[in-house]
Amino acid sequence: MFKLFFGVFCCLLCFGTLANAVKEDVEKILSGHLTSGQSRELMDKLERNLPYSSLLDTARVKTVKCWFYDSQNDKNHIALNDLLTDANQAIKKADSPKLKLDLETCQAFHLYQQGKVSTATSMTKNVISASSKNPELYYQYATANLILGRIFRSQGSYQQAFLAFQQAYNSFEQGGFSYDKALILKEIGLIHADLHNFLLAEEQLQRAINELTNYNEQEWYIATDILAQAYEAQGNYQKAIMLYNSILPAVTKYEDDEGSAYLLFKIAQINIQLNELQEAKQYLNQARDLTLNSEWIKFIQSITTAEWLIKKSRLDEAELLYLDFEQNSSQVWSVDSLTRFLEFKRELAVQKSNYQQEALAQRELLKIADKKVQEIADNTLLSQRLAFDWDQQKREITRLKESSEVKEQLLNLANEKAFWQIASLLFSIGLILILAYITYKQTQHKQRFKTLALKDELTDIANRRAIFAFKYNAIKKSEFLGSACSLIVIDIDHFKQVNDTYGHDIGDEVIISTVKFIEKNIRQTDCAGRVGGEEFLVVLPNTALSFAHEVAQRIRENIENVTHTSLHIKSTVSIGVVEVKAGEAPKDASRRADEKLYAAKNAGRNKVMV
Ligand code: GH3
Ligand code: MG
Ligand code: MG
Repeated sequence: MFKLFFGVFCCLLCFGTLANAVKEDVEKILSGHLTSGQSRELMDKLERNLPYSSLLDTARVKTVKCWFYDSQNDKNHIALNDLLTDANQAIKKADSPKLKLDLETCQAFHLYQQGKVSTATSMTKNVISASSKNPELYYQYATANLILGRIFRSQGSYQQAFLAFQQAYNSFEQGGFSYDKALILKEIGLIHADLHNFLLAEEQLQRAINELTNYNEQEWYIATDILAQAYEAQGNYQKAIMLYNSILPAVTKYEDDEGSAYLLFKIAQINIQLNELQEAKQYLNQARDLTLNSEWIKFIQSITTAEWLIKKSRLDEAELLYLDFEQNSSQVWSVDSLTRFLEFKRELAVQKSNYQQEALAQRELLKIADKKVQEIADNTLLSQRLAFDWDQQKREITRLKESSEVKEQLLNLANEKAFWQIASLLFSIGLILILAYITYKQTQHKQRFKTLALKDELTDIANRRAIFAFKYNAIKKSEFLGSACSLIVIDIDHFKQVNDTYGHDIGDEVIISTVKFIEKNIRQTDCAGRVGGEEFLVVLPNTALSFAHEVAQRIRENIENVTHTSLHIKSTVSIGVVEVKAGEAPKDASRRADEKLYAAKNAGRNKVMV
């Protein structure tokens, strides 16, 4: 989110043969110790003294100049082309193959920034193949791999990005470039964060941040911001908020108003989620005096304010913002903004009891969630495969052992974690993922019945069609997993008498009240539905007969011991319970459950039969 991406300057030039003054200045720029402002100042000084008596120095300074060009924000390609041509001519005069490769990488980087990805990719690959055979060109090789990794990551080609970063890391390692290595760890951390594997992301980012504290403040807060986002995505809000707060002073110092505002809104947003509304208000207020021009930051300001207003139940003001959003909905939403908007829309609908609106928002949110779960399932495995190279980590540990005891402990921890991850990949990750996915789908399925057309109008639980579909899916899934699945059928006893005595409307009330007690006694992953007038079916995935029996007994006892409606009507239920047999058709299982129910009725009612 921050505009500054200082990391590119790391990757320049060769050392050793520079004329003294120029050499010192260029080294300073490369060292990672300067802020972007200081580097720029130094660059200006080097430029003022052009041309140098050494052709090589002139070529070097002109090449560095090209890296300084901000092609993300400055769209004037002619100016950039002039700089590149100028540097190219100087390099020819100086006859330096190394600088030629540096400049090609630099050009590829700018092409990528301008969105010309395929040209950028092939140029970078050219540099890589030209430098891979010559050990003297390892710096050029590393730099080109760094840029290639960024290109791949931006395209979602994570495996390839990871390989490129690994090559870059190894080459920087050879030269002992710890600043550059930390920047690579940050990139790898970003990959894992993209892939929703926050454990690995955290590990790599923490290592990058530890190293970057020795260098310029800007790279440090950029990496810390990424780590905070990773914590946030995991729902670890306390840690996220602590990290965001820790970088606030530095961000305020170096970023423009929109960059600072971004961070203030972020902290406000999390505080709102934590129900710290007073605190959130302070951050929102702090941003009030900042100059915000871009659409993206104005949206973030509005949505954060909207979220705050909802929590404060200031619905009229929230509604006004909602109308604003609707009017501007032609703008292209990012997934994150869309999710925030829909969640806000749903909250507003809930508070205004607008069920149709709520269902609409919910349906959209479910679509996004569906996609996300699929993505996580796909990506976590990939991320596990990209666990950082074992040997390399060991090398790193040995080196750090010598330098510091504290860091050694930290890395041993990382090492253990990596081992655990590989082991769990081999033995259980696959299974856990499938189970988690299925459980998630089941709860989600249930959620959907509640909010969409598949719910029973009177009782708000799944209707006949929906509960039968749920039963069918649950049985098929349990077959696939080889796990148990049970059914409970419930019928209210002598219900006709209730209708005859109190009337049909009170009868309805009793049905609604009975459902409440059924729902109270089942788990989140179980699903209850109304299959007939006063008859209900509960599907219990992953549940054996003995547990289902207990649940049924609880329901029966619970209903026996309470009264319904303001008239304090007593009623009882009869219940049949079965566990689905291996290979049994869903409707045969239902028939057996019904037979048990009749048996319970014949045995005098208010009974459970298994
Ligand atoms: P048993 O213990 O044998 O089940 O006796 P019962 O009275 O419950 O007998 P039965 O299941 O045959 O009758 C169910 C009655 O429930 C019949 C019908 O009038 C009533 N009923 C069906 N749907 C509704 C409804 O939506 N609301 C109300 N109030 N009553 C309903
Ligand atoms: Mg009945
Ligand atoms: Mg009945």
